[in-house]
Amino acid sequence: MKKSEIPKFIKKVFEEYPQVKCALNFSSPLQLLVASRLSAQCTDVRVNIVCEELFKKYKTAKDFANADKEELEKAIFSCGLYHSKARDIIAAAKQLEESGHFPETIEEFCSLAGVGRKIANLMMGEIYGDQSVVIADTHCIRLSNRLGLCDSTNPVIVEKTLKKILPPNTGFHYSHAMVAHGRKICKAQNPGCENCFIKEYCEYFKDKDKNKNKDKDKNKGKEKCGIKKSSSK
Ligand code: SF4
Repeated sequence: MKKSEIPKFIKKVFEEYPQVKCALNFSSPLQLLVASRLSAQCTDVRVNIVCEELFKKYKTAKDFANADKEELEKAIFSCGLYHSKARDIIAAAKQLEESGHFPETIEEFCSLAGVGRKIANLMMGEIYGDQSVVIADTHCIRLSNRLGLCDSTNPVIVEKTLKKILPPNTGFHYSHAMVAHGRKICKAQNPGCENCFIKEYCEYFKDKDKNKNKDKDKNKGKEKCGIKKSSSK
C-alpha cells in the first residue's frame, strides 16, 4: 500500500469497524492483566469461561500472590501452558503487592513476570486510553503484512513500523479492527479477498490478481499454439 493511501484506508477500516472492543471480559485492570496472560495460545472464549470462575475466587493481587500454585494451575488448566501461566500470575501479583503500585507505563508493565509488549500495549490502550499503542498480535501481524504495511513477522518490528506509518492515535483502534477483520474475513487460511472491503489497498490481493491475469495470458498463449488450457486454482 502506498503511504499516501494510508489515511483513506484507515478511514474505511474505522467506518467498517467503528466500535472495536477487547474480546476478553474484565472489570478491573488486574483482571485484564490476568486474562491477557491466560490468553497466550488460547482462545478469548475459553479465557472468558475460565475467568468467570477464577475471578470469584481470586479478587485481589494479594489473593493471586498468596495462591497455592497447584490450585491455580487446576483452575486455569484448560487455557493450556498452565504451569508457566500460574507461575507468572503469582509472580506478577507478588511484584504488584511489593511495589504497592499498579503500572502506568509500557516499561512498568513489561517489568512484570510474563508480561511482554503485546500485553503492555493492550493494558495502556484499554486501561489508560492510549490510542497510539499498537498491539502486534497474530491477526495484526498477518493482516499488516498482507496489506503491505510491513514486511516482518517479528512483533517488535511490526509494532515499530506501524507506529511510524499509521496516522497519530490510530494504532489501538487499528489493532482491534485487524483482529475483527482477521476473524471475519482475512483468515489465516483462505482469506476471503473477493468479499473484502479493503482489497483495493491490499498488496496480497493485488499480487493474487496479477498472477491470475498472468495465468489467463499464459492460457491464451497456449490456446493460440493449440496446447490444452491449464487449470487455474
Ligand atoms: S484483500 Fe484478502 S488478504 Fe487483503 S486484507 Fe482483504 S481478505 Fe486480507
